[in-house]
Amino acid sequence: MSAQLQPEMDFIGPRPLTGHCKYRLKTTGDNSAKYGLCEVCHEHASEVFMQTESRWFDDRHGCGWTYHRCRTTVFGHKTCLERLQRTSVPIP
Ligand SMILES: [Zn+2]
Repeated sequence: MSAQLQPEMDFIGPRPLTGHCKYRLKTTGDNSAKYGLCEVCHEHASEVFMQTESRWFDDRHGCGWTYHRCRTTVFGHKTCLERLQRTSVPIP
């Protein structure tokens, strides 16, 4: 089992398509003075959020959520981070 594998049991419903993304977006509770400028627009943020992307994989090794090929953690404005969100990660 790969170290990047992050199996989660919280998925309910039909199995997602391979590459389908999901996001965790939460506030750091602090501003740019502590976390630096928004990594997306490079402006000051009075509240810095942290977003983690993961994607679904489904292959001969099994299936689950992984961070492989994802923008793992990005800091910035909530709206900037939401703009980065995509439906899926292209898998070559
Ligand atoms: Zn921003």
